[in-house]
Amino acid sequence: MNEVRVRFAPSPTGNLHLGSARTALFNWLFARHVGGKMILRIEDTDPERSLPEYEKAIMEDLLWLGLDWDEGPDKEGPYSPYRQSQRRHIYLQHARKLVEKGMAYFCYCDPQELEEKKKKALAEGKMPLYDGKCRNLTGKERQKLENAGKKPALRFRVPPGAIEFHDLLHGKVIFSSQVIGDFIILRSDGSAGFNFSVVVDDATMGITHVIRGEDHLTNTARHVLLFQALEYPLPVFAHHSLLLGTDGTKMSKRHGATSVREYRESGYLPEALTNYLALLSWSPPNQGEEVLSREELVEQFELASLSRSSSIFDIGKLNWLNGQHIRRMDFTRLVEMARPFASHLSSHPLFDEMIMSIRDNLDKLGEIPHYLEVYTAPPEITPYVKEAFTFKEAKEVVIATISSLERKSLESVEEAKVLLQEISEEFKEKGLKPREIFRPLRLILTGKPSGPPLPYIVHILGKEESIRRLRQGLSQV
Ligand code: GLU
Repeated sequence: MNEVRVRFAPSPTGNLHLGSARTALFNWLFARHVGGKMILRIEDTDPERSLPEYEKAIMEDLLWLGLDWDEGPDKEGPYSPYRQSQRRHIYLQHARKLVEKGMAYFCYCDPQELEEKKKKALAEGKMPLYDGKCRNLTGKERQKLENAGKKPALRFRVPPGAIEFHDLLHGKVIFSSQVIGDFIILRSDGSAGFNFSVVVDDATMGITHVIRGEDHLTNTARHVLLFQALEYPLPVFAHHSLLLGTDGTKMSKRHGATSVREYRESGYLPEALTNYLALLSWSPPNQGEEVLSREELVEQFELASLSRSSSIFDIGKLNWLNGQHIRRMDFTRLVEMARPFASHLSSHPLFDEMIMSIRDNLDKLGEIPHYLEVYTAPPEITPYVKEAFTFKEAKEVVIATISSLERKSLESVEEAKVLLQEISEEFKEKGLKPREIFRPLRLILTGKPSGPPLPYIVHILGKEESIRRLRQGLSQV
């Protein structure tokens, strides 16, 4: 088999959408799994909506996700350029070929007139197909229109009959050419139409597998006709299911954050997002092991085993996976990633320890400031504290802890652990349960019923602050 070449082809008209990131991921996983090439092609043929800043943002987000490419606008390759706006000459050359073969014709219809016909058809419940007005113009008729200053577009002459192709995930797909209609391949300004540029690029860039969302299936029918007309071999097609919101409609703003950037900013890890997006339509061979690194995904991924059923976005599952990756990741990296989320504390000498103390609680890095509040906000005397003193020995526990803190060294979490252990032993002998011993301490020190392990709290607050908080608590009950 020839070298596998796949492409991800975003239009730079917005930030990278989760659904597009999933398409990029499937292409990347497949390419990396089989040792093929990943190509990034920027589909910027819409000059009004395409912006260089979106191109930049998409590339940044892809790299953040770990989805790199071998050829692309920033990486010279044998098929450059990789931006459609720079490939106009290639489209023109191919369009000329189709005109010569009689497979494309000039269309002088006014865009406004076409728009009105389209509206009318839709209002009548019909498919808005081109009516073929310019399909058989004579040379004379064309000349007249040209003389009147009309600039033509170029349309592909869709042959009658069925259009049939094989899709790796859908099997045999058949469309009637009657639902396609002659479509534009060059606009009147000479720019290439969407379907035409995609096919010319896929063919001239040697793309072997086209992996994209199933919303492109109808376009693929057009593409197949164009590949055949241009006498290029068909690539393998694989149209994956779409990403849907919980109500079963295409994932959109209504369902919450949709761009990779928003997830990145609220503290999701790239490896958790790629893990989650992969699992949405694919089950790893060992189904019990869902928490997978990018490398493990590459190793296990099989394109043909993508599920056809639609994928419902489940934030709960993503949160769970993100939490799992937070607990698995290299700790130094976690601390570095945590810093921007807690800039007010990041120069604290015990910042690492703070992060260690809350690591098991985190679903996403954006929750860090909330969990770190125990170290910053002085505890309020809440109803919990009152509750802590509903049994009489609680006061004794606090007094004993203060006295122990005054006497003992508190250089490390380990020392804090030992100190608290001794208190625990002492009061266990007096008949208290561990919960009854530690709960009042936690409540007075933090004002909250749960949070990081107590030794961390005591060590990070330090001797002075722990004693101060415990004394203050005592004075208020
Ligand atoms: N630029 C198209 C899109 O963003 C991709 C088309 C394709 O993958 O063929 O939907």
